[in-house]
Amino acid sequence: MTKGAQSGTHGEKQIAMRIATLELLHAARGRYALGAFNVCNLEQFHGLFRGAAAARAPIIVQFTRVMRDYAHPLMLDQLLRGAEIIYPEVTFAVHHDHGDEASCAEAIASGHYSSVMIDASHLSFEQNIAVTRRVVVRAHQQGIAVEAELGQLKGVEDETPVETEVALLTEPAQAEEFVGRTGCDSLAVAIGTSHGAYKFSGNQRLHLEVLAEIQRRLAGFPLVLHGGSAVPPNEVERIRRAGGGIAPSASGVSEAELSQAIALGVAKVNVATDGRLIWTRVHREFFRDRPGEFDFMQPGRTYINEFAKLVAHKCELLGAAGRTPALTTAKLSPSGGVNNEARTALSASPQPPHDKHADKTLRTPLESTR
Ligand SMILES: [Zn+2]
Repeated sequence: MTKGAQSGTHGEKQIAMRIATLELLHAARGRYALGAFNVCNLEQFHGLFRGAAAARAPIIVQFTRVMRDYAHPLMLDQLLRGAEIIYPEVTFAVHHDHGDEASCAEAIASGHYSSVMIDASHLSFEQNIAVTRRVVVRAHQQGIAVEAELGQLKGVEDETPVETEVALLTEPAQAEEFVGRTGCDSLAVAIGTSHGAYKFSGNQRLHLEVLAEIQRRLAGFPLVLHGGSAVPPNEVERIRRAGGGIAPSASGVSEAELSQAIALGVAKVNVATDGRLIWTRVHREFFRDRPGEFDFMQPGRTYINEFAKLVAHKCELLGAAGRTPALTTAKLSPSGGVNNEARTALSASPQPPHDKHADKTLRTPLESTR
């Protein structure tokens, strides 16, 4: 049973619900993609959940190994628990992004994740398979899904810079073999995106032909796109006007490319850079325009609101907006046809009492700004 199935109610009432990542991925695959957002501070939690609520979109909340070190896993868990109570209408899954073997083991044992990503893509093909397989065995024992990566993205992957020369596109035949031998549940593919603000130079674009071939070989298998940020020129320009040093050559994945990727089996799109750009723009503009201010809450409010708008916009773009009601209805119906096997250890998490007071005081609709 999920928490939602235990505590939710039919009809008008909204439902707080953690769903297994794999269940969300399979519901989405071929129809839309889930936005997967990296968050680790309270402004980001509010912004993420507010944006998802506004778009009525299921989301994947994810934490990297570095974010877990930065915030502390217990802090992240408590922020998430808070968000869950404050925004009960949001359906989400919890994922460990860019883990190594040790951090995956820790995440699996914590009981707070329904999926982990083992990133062993910097190793040789055989070593990647061996490490991924070990994580899969450990994760599946706990009913937790595993995302693996094959091929390498350019840019800084977490804190590990990947040199342009060694960045490798995923080879479709290898992808098929890799999935077969590791038993992973989803696969992050390298098709030309990169982490960070400089995704493409010149006329470089996504290698959709590679994606098409992977999809042909792995029909029905959920694929993941890392580095899915758009890096809007307008954001870059505003940061530059406020004193930032991001080069005008910064660029990201276009909306049209994203739609094509979704049609070719991408069911999860990781978005990190766009949120960081908004953080930078909001704070740079705030302190430029109000040099006498030193109250973190003032720009914090603006950032929450702007991040919420970004999340809602991304969910629209990925086709995930408005999908929550169908998911929750299926979940609450005894014959809903939802994959029971995908349900995870998360359901074992203790359920906090519903805090109506928190709901009323903190849940506000998206404010419009500037
Ligand atoms: Zn990534």
